[in-house]
Amino acid sequence: MPRLVMKFGGTSVADIDRIRNVARHVKREVDAGYDVAVVVSAMAGKTNELVGWCREASVIHDAREYDAVVASGEQVTSGLLAIVLQSMGLPARSWQGWQIPIKTSNAHGAARILDVDGSKMLRHFEERREIAVVAGFQGMHEPTGRISTLGRGGSDTSAVALAAAIGAERCDIYTDVDGVYTTDPRIVPRASRLDKVSYEEMLEMSSLGAKVLQVRSVEVAMVHNVPTYVRSSFDDPAAPNPGTLICGEEEIVEQQTVTGIAYSRDEAQITLRRVADKPGVAASIFMPLAEANINVDMIIQVVSYDSATTDITFTVPASEYERAKSILDSNRAAIEYEALQGATDVVKVSAIGVGMRSHAGVAARAFKALSEKGINIRAITTSEIKFSVLIDEAYTELAVRTLHSLYGLDKA
Ligand code: ADP
Ligand code: ASP
Ligand code: MG
Repeated sequence: MPRLVMKFGGTSVADIDRIRNVARHVKREVDAGYDVAVVVSAMAGKTNELVGWCREASVIHDAREYDAVVASGEQVTSGLLAIVLQSMGLPARSWQGWQIPIKTSNAHGAARILDVDGSKMLRHFEERREIAVVAGFQGMHEPTGRISTLGRGGSDTSAVALAAAIGAERCDIYTDVDGVYTTDPRIVPRASRLDKVSYEEMLEMSSLGAKVLQVRSVEVAMVHNVPTYVRSSFDDPAAPNPGTLICGEEEIVEQQTVTGIAYSRDEAQITLRRVADKPGVAASIFMPLAEANINVDMIIQVVSYDSATTDITFTVPASEYERAKSILDSNRAAIEYEALQGATDVVKVSAIGVGMRSHAGVAARAFKALSEKGINIRAITTSEIKFSVLIDEAYTELAVRTLHSLYGLDKA
């Protein structure tokens, strides 16, 4: 029988009624003749609560125990959905990550999937025709036998990786929106739903802030060529819409120059003033940050005026801001900067589209449009299929809406 992976996010399993609704979606696909693996997230808000408890227990805590705590949210929903399915007369059982097993690295809290062994589940499908209800977000680090979690939003990745492992026909990611939009529909009501998005564009959109899919899930879908749909669990289970297909670029006929706009508030800006302008200085700044696993994104070095000193500005994730500052402070003697200035009230707004490869001046139009709205650009980065600007956080919505209209993405 063909196989299917269906994934339901937190809002879709927020209470028992919603879990019943999920079961109706699952039943539809079982009736259509699929062997189904359902991946579930924790109930809405649960993971935040569990994370909060770990922090309350101790601000600095053992990441392995953090994983033991936060993985529990998905254990609950997997059992509950199996119970509901059984009550509807559908054979079902829950699977925890370690039972499959989903083997991961030991980067507790943000582990990477190394291998998913689908053989046991396939045998169960064959022998028992039983729906597999899988706890998303979790796996295990085999050498130590410890439970691991895949980072926030990680159930998307569990689902796509499982789809690849069991050779599913497709992976359906059910959420609280009916597809991938040209930008976050919560901040731009005129955002429009895309029928198809290429893996590459989705990868950029996710990594630049569109949290509808975890970045890793798109990577896995792209590498294993898993056709992945984003669709709504709130559609009528009897007649749902297909949602947005994430697929290879070649399958997309009509291509816009810009496909989507994303934004990320998880940014902090650091400027080092009057740094010595001599060889080795950039290394003395960025090596210690790299060694501390701090991701530096945008970097601007100003051409020095007096050829003795220069200013260097760069961004780091907001969550790493304090750590980055203290590392720079402890390396001050080696870097020789005069002052460190920082800001966390910044946002990175990005435009993404494979059409940028063949069109010149796409970013330039944005700079003009933003300046006409009085929005000052602090930093810019560009690459083949996207560009990003760093601006004051207060202008987030205005900037996203401005770019959304500029590139003709507003819904008619
Ligand atoms: P789930 O709990 O189902 O995993 P998430 O909250 O992780 O759901 O992701 C869905 C949310 O992603 C939507 O409610 C929406 O606000 C947000 N989002 C951000 N950017 C986009 C986009 N471009 N298209 C669709 N949704 C987006
Ligand atoms: N429950 C986890 C989280 O909130 C994983 C997920 O929902 O994808 O991050
Ligand atoms: Mg999510």
